[in-house]
Amino acid sequence: MLTRFAPSPTGDLHLGHAYSAVLAHDAARAAGGTFLIRIDDIDGSRSREDYVAASLADLAWLGIDWDGAPLRQSDRLGAYAAALDTLRARDLVYPCFCTRADIAASLAAPHGPPNGPAGAIYPGTCRDLPTTERERRMATEPHCWRLDMARAVSTTGALTWEEQGQGVRTAEPTTHGDIVLARKDAPASYHLASTLDDAAMGVTHIIRGADLIAATDVHRLLQALLDLPTPLYRHHALVCGADGKRLAKRDAAASLASLRAAGVVGPTLAADLAAGRLPTGYSLQMP
Ligand code: GLU
Repeated sequence: MLTRFAPSPTGDLHLGHAYSAVLAHDAARAAGGTFLIRIDDIDGSRSREDYVAASLADLAWLGIDWDGAPLRQSDRLGAYAAALDTLRARDLVYPCFCTRADIAASLAAPHGPPNGPAGAIYPGTCRDLPTTERERRMATEPHCWRLDMARAVSTTGALTWEEQGQGVRTAEPTTHGDIVLARKDAPASYHLASTLDDAAMGVTHIIRGADLIAATDVHRLLQALLDLPTPLYRHHALVCGADGKRLAKRDAAASLASLRAAGVVGPTLAADLAAGRLPTGYSLQMP
């Protein structure tokens, strides 16, 4: 068994991250397996080195030990570019020149496309541009790369994954529309980078928050398109605050740094979380 915890270094870790990390760590250790840390630092504008150090210090404080040096997505840009080349060679991605304003304007039109799990779905403006226009604009205009979802799904057929202890789930990638796989300002989207990395790391069990169940629709599709193995998944309940809403990085009181400063003992907190016991005022909820 190989599991991982993959924080994005864009803020302080909080109780929700601790819960996820403890579950993934303990599952690997109970099975005599491997537990890896990956730093999801592909978003250069939001990732910060001090958050990397603080996250690792928080995990160590919890008593979590990991195998080998943490991996970094920023070291893997070549692999992301190669995967995009593969999809490009199969005509499964296209350059999209739309600005946010362009997309908002087409969505405001009557009978615009319905919403997907992650918000409005792309209306497809750049999907069928003539090759000459595409090439001309690619030379001068910033663009992202989108998956041609209908075409991609037609090459794979129906896809499923196994949700540990709950049986088989059907992936519904088409509900996401033509998702972005490489951004104007980042060489890969979360979906592409995470799917490729989990495969390269040999992750057998993905243990992460239930807020990412919908993302698994897309990850399962990318696995099929790129010939990658499908791990088992366990999407766990989310830690919520007194307002019943899931914690966000801005909830300072729930940050591991503030709990540590308040005298909480890291390994005791980790054992409590593993047993589903949360500090007063917090609860676990399925979204
Ligand atoms: N860096 C991602 C996050 O913090 C990881 C999600 C995942 O586990 O796939 O949401």
